[in-house]
Amino acid sequence: MRVLVSGYYGMGNLGDEAVLAAFVEHAKKIDPEATCVALSGEPRETSEAYGIEAVPRASLGAIVREIRRADIVVSGGGSLLQDVTGRKSVLYYLGIITLARMMRRPVSIYAQGLGPLNHAFSRWLVKRTLSRTSAITVRDEGSARLLRELGVVRPEPVVVADPAFALTPRKPDKSIAVQGSNTVMLCFRPWPGVCGREAEYAECIDRAVLELGITPVFLAFHPDQDLEISHCIAERCNAGKNKPAVIACNMPPQEALELISRADMVVGMRLHSLIFAATTGVPAVAIDYDPKVRAHCRLIEEPHMVEAGASADELYAAIASAWASRGETRARLRAMMPEIRERAEAGARFALAPVVDEPCRANGEEGKVGENESAGRASVLGSPVDCISMDDAVAFLMERAASGVGAHVVTINPEMALSAVHDSELADAISRADLVVPDGIGVVRGLRILGYSPPGRVPGIELATGLMRSAASSGMALFLVGAEPGVADAAAERMASDIPGLEVAGTFHGYFQEAEGEAVLSRIQDADPSFVLVGMGAGKQEKWIVKARKSAPSAVWIGVGGSFDVMSGNVKRAPVAFQKLGLEWFYRLVTEPRRAKRMTALPAFVFAVLGEAFRKRRRS
Ligand code: UDP
Repeated sequence: MRVLVSGYYGMGNLGDEAVLAAFVEHAKKIDPEATCVALSGEPRETSEAYGIEAVPRASLGAIVREIRRADIVVSGGGSLLQDVTGRKSVLYYLGIITLARMMRRPVSIYAQGLGPLNHAFSRWLVKRTLSRTSAITVRDEGSARLLRELGVVRPEPVVVADPAFALTPRKPDKSIAVQGSNTVMLCFRPWPGVCGREAEYAECIDRAVLELGITPVFLAFHPDQDLEISHCIAERCNAGKNKPAVIACNMPPQEALELISRADMVVGMRLHSLIFAATTGVPAVAIDYDPKVRAHCRLIEEPHMVEAGASADELYAAIASAWASRGETRARLRAMMPEIRERAEAGARFALAPVVDEPCRANGEEGKVGENESAGRASVLGSPVDCISMDDAVAFLMERAASGVGAHVVTINPEMALSAVHDSELADAISRADLVVPDGIGVVRGLRILGYSPPGRVPGIELATGLMRSAASSGMALFLVGAEPGVADAAAERMASDIPGLEVAGTFHGYFQEAEGEAVLSRIQDADPSFVLVGMGAGKQEKWIVKARKSAPSAVWIGVGGSFDVMSGNVKRAPVAFQKLGLEWFYRLVTEPRRAKRMTALPAFVFAVLGEAFRKRRRS
């Protein structure tokens, strides 16, 4: 798996570096073979610091090349989508997402903190762009609320925690000596209301030195920006024997985390100084200059917070109170951190879910059509089935293909539903599919017996043909895998002569050996189709799709059974009269007597469904 990560990396901000470091750490846990590539302001430094690949964030050529090579693009972490510091940030990060979508790569929004978005245009652009991604996680409830307000409902934003909560501290190569005991680390940043009050803050710190016995140490989290104000305050302090130390955090975030873990308390404006403190159990006083600081305090139930414009007296009062209750705070943080850390790690799992074979779903339950449509999702013998019409299914899958979110579609028949009762791999594939339609009349009748009202059959072959027509008129390509050698080609040729504009980007037969598997996947990946039709027989095709989907995660994958045999003209479909009477199975039995044994599945299915209906009634 190759992951391109976009964010404010290699720009000297420890908070964003922490997000990248944590993502790389967590991605490697999910897939030890994962190759992470970061867009960075300092590619060489980024590459050395995290042992990953990195390319210049401002080079369009490098960005396009890396998107093309990536399996997924992760737009990650920090406060990228806000327009208080100008609109450039929003345009840059949304531009990369749009480019990735144009190149048909899935995109995940990773643990971002959104807003403030003050301009109508930024708000519109964020809504439009994020609605076309595959997964969205945000680091706080406020960001989720903002997305809801903007109308981003799909994919459903999931609230996780900032990835830095689950970063592992690392002892620095060169130890930084922190002199004295009762160390209070101070992380200021320039901000209106703070600049110009340096003398007042110095006075407040002097008071804490004399009355509480603390040793102040300044940390410049974003050295380029924070060193000046840190020195400015430190130089005005004169209560201690020496002037307070000022440390420029030109170090990897894991080492800064270790440094903060040595503090007795933190007074912080920089969000990640507060996160590092919380995760290592260090009490803190937050200086609130941005909603993200408030959100953090809410999350960890931190009462010690003052506004950025607070007076020196107010700041001192908060410091004294936090100092007095530091024992309790440590205990509280220790108790709450395991759960927060788990949520922080979940961000990477959600972000990579579109390309990782894991039960964790990027789109949550909302990705399954049946649960959102009024018709709903039914269940037969433990397998889900979406009660959806042919037209709605085609519309839903066209939208999935156009937006690049992709989907796995199962066309379930009685034989498959019965097999799934005993075959857990198949059952898992079906239950994880985004759409499960009733291919056979048997399933439709079974659903009716169980009290559901499916609109009717959605036969795989008709769904495939409907999608071929819509794809042809939208300029989307298909790939056909399955059947005996030559059959998929013949099917492609015949369908292309029926459907003007149909583009079949490639075919492969369905009897390839295991050793050839990777070659098949490369062919699909290179073809970059919007739809992959897989006709390898019920059960086999569903399990294969689960594994193969990563080769074209933005495509819609459908198991179509023996459809290519029919499309190629090798096998005749039952006459329309048989189809209408629900007797297609009978026609097949007569014309293909070798299927007789498999057809015993039909009565077995009916009995099993009757048993389920009986149990259901007894329960209710
Ligand atoms: N098939 C395949 N690879 C296999 C086994 C089967 O490509 O290893 C093809 C087979 O040639 C046929 C299709 O899968 O085209 C299965 O057709 P059938 O009508 O039996 O499938 P159903 O629609 O009943 O699942």
